Amino acid sequence: MRKKLIAGNWKMNGLTHDGISLAKDLANLYKASDNPIFDMFIAPPFTLLSNVLEVVKESGVWVGAQDCSMYDAGAHTGDVSPIMLKDLGCGGVIVGHSERRADHGETNEIVKAKAEAALKAGLGVIICVGETLRERETGKTLNVVKEQLQKSIPTETTAGRVVIAYEPVWAIGTGKTPTKNDVQEVHASMRHVLADVVGAEIAQNIRLLYGGSVKPNNAKDLLTLPDVDGALVGGASLKVNDFWAIAQAVM
Ligand code: PEP
Repeated sequence: MRKKLIAGNWKMNGLTHDGISLAKDLANLYKASDNPIFDMFIAPPFTLLSNVLEVVKESGVWVGAQDCSMYDAGAHTGDVSPIMLKDLGCGGVIVGHSERRADHGETNEIVKAKAEAALKAGLGVIICVGETLRERETGKTLNVVKEQLQKSIPTETTAGRVVIAYEPVWAIGTGKTPTKNDVQEVHASMRHVLADVVGAEIAQNIRLLYGGSVKPNNAKDLLTLPDVDGALVGGASLKVNDFWAIAQAVM
């Protein structure tokens, strides 16, 4: 039985006051819900991690970063290592988001190195994959996602510490989503690919999130698909009511 995971990627949004208030509201809701049947993860920008960790402590909400270095320490100006995140109290990190792949030239090999460094530091990791619109329109989706998975999954993958997020690039921030059938097709295919890469048991237990314009009004349709184990939410994770409504769709 895979426990659903509702993850929020705040991206480059939030100043101190609003970030603390959003985290506090979420933590209160999560804490007050009796034995929630879903895990909740939020990834604020680096600048808010300390504050948010403080505010959500003992609520059960899991906090992490949106990226990390593949290195532990050293001459890498501007980067933040997974060891530093762990030291701060983070539980996990997102790697391979399409905005990192596009804006910072992150290849599958870099994503894999980052994921391996994060696992070595004791963090959980959410690895993002997904096709562009052109790849979707030319029928390449399953192959693109397969190659991303094969090349970016850490050798030491376990179902407890690694989560995969399928995020079609064309669905992020656009209000467009694939059909339910398309999402289920990709997720089922990812589980199949994972069985080859990390073995059938891990593939069966690993959580596969869908991300890309998840909103309260489409969350139920997406989150009740058999191979969808949660959501990675961008824009809607910045509004407590929307994010909480999405989480409620797992019930
Ligand atoms: C994301 O940034 O991972 C994302 C899915 O964004 P949005 O929900 O805004 O499409």
